[in-house]
Amino acid sequence: MKTNSSQILTSSLIVLIALAPSSFALTPAEAEARVKQDDATVTFLEYLCDDHGGRLSGSAANEAALADLEAALRELGLDPIRETFPMPGWVRQDDTLTMLAPVHREMRAIGLSYLEPTGPLNGPVVDLGAGAPEDFAKLEIPAGAIGLFGPSSRGRAGAVGQRALEHGMAGLMFINRVGGGQLLARTGGFHGKPLPLPIFSITQEEGFWMRRLIARGEPVEVGLQTRSFNKPVEVDNLRVRIQGKTDETVLVGGHFDSWEKGQGAIDNGLGVAQLLALARVLRDADLERTVELVWYNGEEQGLWGSRYAVAEGADAKNPPAVMLNLDMVGVPIGVNAMGHDELVPLLDWWNENRGEGRLEQGVTNTTWMASDHTPYQVNGVRVITFYAPIPQESVRYYHDFADTFDKLTPEIIKDSSGVIASLVVELANAPDLPSGLVPEADVEEMLKAAKLEERLRGSGLWKF
Ligand SMILES: [Zn+2]
Repeated sequence: MKTNSSQILTSSLIVLIALAPSSFALTPAEAEARVKQDDATVTFLEYLCDDHGGRLSGSAANEAALADLEAALRELGLDPIRETFPMPGWVRQDDTLTMLAPVHREMRAIGLSYLEPTGPLNGPVVDLGAGAPEDFAKLEIPAGAIGLFGPSSRGRAGAVGQRALEHGMAGLMFINRVGGGQLLARTGGFHGKPLPLPIFSITQEEGFWMRRLIARGEPVEVGLQTRSFNKPVEVDNLRVRIQGKTDETVLVGGHFDSWEKGQGAIDNGLGVAQLLALARVLRDADLERTVELVWYNGEEQGLWGSRYAVAEGADAKNPPAVMLNLDMVGVPIGVNAMGHDELVPLLDWWNENRGEGRLEQGVTNTTWMASDHTPYQVNGVRVITFYAPIPQESVRYYHDFADTFDKLTPEIIKDSSGVIASLVVELANAPDLPSGLVPEADVEEMLKAAKLEERLRGSGLWKF
């Protein structure tokens, strides 16, 4: 068919009018379908990972990556707000751990955050088992010894460090829970204080090797030197507000920062992309409640951004009705009411309405801690998380050099974002979403019932 220029102009105008933003009602299913067809967040995450690498809080890479996200949100016509807060920062330098006996060998090791410059110093290695008080009690520990403990994903390094100090030890080595030469970056503590003794994360292979030598009475000696240092920093959370008919807020958050050896793709570039997907689909939607999206900084080193936001920042002034946390969320197979019984009927309703797309594990109701939802929950905000495991062949690289973009697929990013968008639209429009804060006594009871009191106290988050 031939067309003249005026026909082209007319049809272009029609296309432009059709694309012009105007607010429209959006169902959970429509939101999900739109997000699953949107490749833009996959591309954004690829560039974010490859252009900047890991996003350690307070680093230049973190700031440059945040500026890219901010620009992407402005391009969508949104108005992102930076919430600046101080936190104890930390700069990784060249830290070394060397086996001196029975063989001389540079070990594969990384320091825990808040490590201070120490050494060089040498010491005999003592096997502390799991590092529990009973493990210490059955040992003769020479002064200046360097302890070996783990593997355990739950062992609190700070508590083991305290015991080691009391026994006059000079350092600690923590064995990773997965093999293959991998290291596990982690924080030295939610307190943010310089570590009183050096703690290294080491590989399972070198840890088990030393353990075998010690078990047969062969003396093992290591030397260490650390140059990493502590430095207070100011960093930003980034927040986008999508105004609904009311100011009652559904908050969706996930941490932006990561460890710096890899690219922070799984942890938590995935959440960064999921939040961007929400911004893209919700920006023109006609919603009952206001939706706020927050990219937190400082999570890995101690939940600094979420602690600030809910205790002193925007969410202290205007607490959200509910907070949904996105930290390493793969494609959901369940949704968790996190101990808030009153949220279960609404989540059940949402899941049942998904028909064929129903999450196979349905609604669970178990409180857990240690991501950005925790400060909200402690402060009486109802929180929700997903049960959405990432495949083992990818998630094993968590906190390691190999947490890179190639561990994700476009399907994981888009399909997970679709389910999340569906729930967020439901929460924004549901007539029966509980409002107001949970009374303090009820929060305390819920956290005690979940047996989290000791861990929350150890992290400095217990406020009752
Ligand atoms: Zn994380």
